[in-house]
Amino acid sequence: MSTKRKSVLIIGAGISGLAAAHSLHENGFDVQIFEARKEFGGRIRKDDQFAGFTLEVGGEEIHKVNSPYYHLALKMGADLKPDDTLNHYFEDIEKEELMDREEFLSKYNDQYFYNEVVQNRDIQDDSQSLQNFFSKKGLKSQFYQWYEAFWGIENGGSLNEISVKAYGDYESGRKSDHDLNFILMNTSHYEIIEKAFASVLPFIHYSTPITEINYFGEKEFPVDREQEDEDEDDEEEDCKGKDFNRVVIFDKQGNRYEGDYIIVTVPISQLQNKTIRFNPELPPQKQDAIRRMKLGRGGKIHFKFKNRFWPDNARTLFLRSKISFLWNQYHEQKDTDEIQTNVLAGLLAGDVMDEMQDPEKRQALIEEVLEKMARVFKYPKVKEELLDVMWNDFTNFEYIQGNYSMPTLNIGSSRYIYQQPVDNILFFAGEASHTTDSMTIHGAYETGLRDAQRIIELQKEKK
Ligand SMILES: Cc1cc2nc3c(=O)[nH]c(=O)nc-3n(C[C@H](O)[C@H](O)[C@H](O)COP(=O)(O)OP(=O)(O)OC[C@H]3O[C@@H](n4cnc5c(N)ncnc54)[C@H](O)[C@@H]3O)c2cc1C
Repeated sequence: MSTKRKSVLIIGAGISGLAAAHSLHENGFDVQIFEARKEFGGRIRKDDQFAGFTLEVGGEEIHKVNSPYYHLALKMGADLKPDDTLNHYFEDIEKEELMDREEFLSKYNDQYFYNEVVQNRDIQDDSQSLQNFFSKKGLKSQFYQWYEAFWGIENGGSLNEISVKAYGDYESGRKSDHDLNFILMNTSHYEIIEKAFASVLPFIHYSTPITEINYFGEKEFPVDREQEDEDEDDEEEDCKGKDFNRVVIFDKQGNRYEGDYIIVTVPISQLQNKTIRFNPELPPQKQDAIRRMKLGRGGKIHFKFKNRFWPDNARTLFLRSKISFLWNQYHEQKDTDEIQTNVLAGLLAGDVMDEMQDPEKRQALIEEVLEKMARVFKYPKVKEELLDVMWNDFTNFEYIQGNYSMPTLNIGSSRYIYQQPVDNILFFAGEASHTTDSMTIHGAYETGLRDAQRIIELQKEKK
């Protein structure tokens, strides 16, 4: 056995790829990270210009207390504010008035449907959508808009795209308080990963989309045709020891890279649209799992106002408009400890994206929500006080093309199949590969650590 350091190729410099790289590097592996875009972070992305303080354009809240990522954030100096100390407001279904969550729950018995789906384990039908379930249960259609806002959009899509069973499994599988989320007050996820993974950032090849992955196992050493003559001596040297690199990949420009293992962390959309070719082809079960998963369409909108006109203790605001799910941005100012801001963020996903992608229709939706705010908050000057709007559509971000992998119809055990290594050489990490905590930052982080650990263990067994 050669004592040469083993090398791992990692595709994607989002949190899962960086976590894997960092853990492997710490354990004596050589790592190379290939990122198609010109920056790291993937669906973690910040904006420092719009608000005068840092905004999260992508992943924002930490959805699991005491998870490894929660502890990483603390270690990197994050001040985490639990959002259960803040209020969640709803526009009453009957009147254009705000209600706090307790009032809403008791008036509309919302918890009833949540319990039905999450606790009723008899619902085994993965092909039934939440929309279909509600209609069978006789839920009045005026309620759909609510469920679309906080069951649909939050899960990356519309009610007609989300499976009752997958949603129930997801909610019950998270094993954490459904409502306990954490806001970063003094830093951003981008800064956390920049700091935590600083030692591996120099190993990123930026603007390097990978288009072909050859994983040959012990079967055959693939000869680089172009470099054959130049590198003949080196290649022979490598082949002799039979301890050769087993993965050969190519980027869009045709450059070739080799390694002992490979971890693919790209969003599921990139495997579905076949921007990466696998040789040999992936096992049929794996291909089927990839086909069954679904990355939602979606993004985030930010509104900056001259003044605040929503309640001081508000975290989320659910309004009866197409832009329905909004929340207040908190930020700790270094000098004043001021935590309230004049910025509202909104999450959009699912069917509303048809309109958001058309600039004219998007403008109409913006007008609609501003008018709604004026009436609900009884503050007629809302439009005059609007300073700026920022819209980031992840569906249009090249090499990402979506928000997160939703609990979609007929997903079955796809996540489980997806995260199984192929031939102990080819690994699949990234949020979609987490069987209980997909769609999240902490989940994506754990998948990177998981596959790094698998490779570390494999090497230990070989020694
Ligand atoms: C709008 C929005 C809001 C969100 N809100 C939250 C939230 O509040 N809380 C939460 O926990 N999570 C949230 N998430 C989800 C969270 O951000 C993601 O689950 C997580 O960041 C995904 O990390 P990842 O490493 O799996 O994938 P990514 O971050 O997508 O990283 C994959 C990387 O692969 C690169 N890539 C793609 N194709 C190739 C190729 N061919 N070659 C090389 N590189 C390639 C991509 O450019 C990308 O950088 C949100 C996401 C979005 C979009």
